[in-house]
Amino acid sequence: LKLTFTPTKLLGEERHGLVVVIVDVTEQEKLERQRKDFVANVSHELRTPLTTIKSYLEALDDGVVEEPELARRFLSVTQQEAERMTRLITDLLQLTRLDAKKSKFVKQQIETKELITDAYQRFFYQCKQHHIMFSLYTAKEIDFIYGDRDKLNQVLDNLISNAIKYTPDGGSIALIADLRWDGLIEIGIADTGIGIPQKDLGRIFERFYRVDKARSRSLGGTGLGLSIAREIIHAHHGEIEMDSVYQKGTLVSFTLPPSNRR
Ligand code: ADP
Repeated sequence: LKLTFTPTKLLGEERHGLVVVIVDVTEQEKLERQRKDFVANVSHELRTPLTTIKSYLEALDDGVVEEPELARRFLSVTQQEAERMTRLITDLLQLTRLDAKKSKFVKQQIETKELITDAYQRFFYQCKQHHIMFSLYTAKEIDFIYGDRDKLNQVLDNLISNAIKYTPDGGSIALIADLRWDGLIEIGIADTGIGIPQKDLGRIFERFYRVDKARSRSLGGTGLGLSIAREIIHAHHGEIEMDSVYQKGTLVSFTLPPSNRR
């Protein structure tokens, strides 16, 4: 809390008074802290792959280049790290555009069933490769959604690929579309994966927040997927939530207004 005392003249009379301005600076300070943390996180996230790239290139320069097998492996790591940096920058640019409300949303009527069946088909083979049982459920009567197809596909892709990333082989994933009691359309992705500890759940949508940084990185994650998903859902006037039981599984679900409510 910040108090500002300003001596003042009242009504042009030579009467001296005091104006007390009470400003709640906790919110401002919180925003400032978040901004600083964000810059520090971005720098760190970019420096980590760069350090790896640099050390592998140095090793190649120091003679590894003469050993074709090892050299190929080192080049492949370098390439993967460069790709991760590209993904990170793409995600950052998208978040910046979403924050500045500069992201274009081309909204149209979308058939819910078609939207989620397409998403199911995009990931069907990846699940099969991981021996994950992937199922699809849609309520019989389900309205159209009014939204941006590409952006909603991106949300679905982020959430389904997270479910695959954090579910060990042999687990199950379900994609569900249902009509909620209040007329909103609810889409959920449930998995039987590693889950999220209760203490982390409240912060999981924060930028760069991960339960296990090393694990997320080794799986190619940027730590921004859920933040982007949340921004996109909010731009559709929906809500997104995560529920989880550690070491049992996770359910992430979001709501969207049906097209007649736009
Ligand atoms: P990342 O690129 O690290 O996956 P996200 O923003 O998509 O970034 O997710 C943030 C963190 O939330 C992840 O690092 C992981 O710890 C956790 N998480 C997300 N989805 C799941 C899930 N389905 N099961 C378990 N943990 C998850």
